[in-house]
Amino acid sequence: MGTRKSLVQNTKEGRGRIKKRGTIIVGLGGVVLLAFCLFYFPSLLEKMTVKEPGQNHQSAAPAKQQGQNQLEAANNSDTQAQRKIVYLTFDDGPSELTGKFLDVLEQHDIKATFFMLGTNLESPSWQSDVKRAVREGHYVGGHSMTHQYNKLYEERQFIPEMSETLSIIHDLTGENPRLVRPPFGSSPGLEDTQLRDQIVEAGINIWDWTIDSNDWDLKDRPEQIVENIKIATKNDLEVVLMHETQQTLQALPEIIAFYQQEGYSFGVYDDTKHFQLNFLQDHRL
Ligand SMILES: [Zn+2]
Repeated sequence: MGTRKSLVQNTKEGRGRIKKRGTIIVGLGGVVLLAFCLFYFPSLLEKMTVKEPGQNHQSAAPAKQQGQNQLEAANNSDTQAQRKIVYLTFDDGPSELTGKFLDVLEQHDIKATFFMLGTNLESPSWQSDVKRAVREGHYVGGHSMTHQYNKLYEERQFIPEMSETLSIIHDLTGENPRLVRPPFGSSPGLEDTQLRDQIVEAGINIWDWTIDSNDWDLKDRPEQIVENIKIATKNDLEVVLMHETQQTLQALPEIIAFYQQEGYSFGVYDDTKHFQLNFLQDHRL
């Protein structure tokens, strides 16, 4: 009985003990939990703080990428800076000065674009200079036969005159240039759409300019030519209108030095890489 009691008691006690044990376990659990909280959470927090830089790493990756992008952008702008390009163009030749222009260009290892007049091209004394220009990597394009506004635009001789000029250049140099510069510019002379349609059909391209040096009007004032060009230079791509005059020849070394200082490279026209440059914004020309 006693045993039973004791069993019950035991049992009770046992239960009690279990209860007690349970309490102890719960209590211990609590302590462990507390310890967990006290020790693990900080480490968890730490982990989280460690993770934050990790997240920063994630954001650092884009940051790095961003940096790289910025670098690329800088490189691109460097490339763009390198891509600053100026086309020096000389109209109305060939002339007694063509050879001297070529000498200056050769000294500076620079290529230029010439727009020549058919009547001058027919003069035998300058033909060797025209050939030399092409041989040395310059471009020779057309600038008409007569250079007369009335004939070219009002009497509509633009296409025949340009075709004839280009044909003379071909016969002289073996090249097949398709680019011409309209005397006095494409506007207003070529404002008539029908005339432009015919130019397109004839396979002729047209270039005006971005900077007018006004050199022809500045006899004995080469410094003013340089000044005009400096003031007008604003874009990464400039096409400078000049002529084969004495004052331009004098100004040329300083013009070259200016563009070199400004980080421009010197371009020469290429028929296979034609781009639109006309006052009329006609993309076909
Ligand atoms: Zn001209």
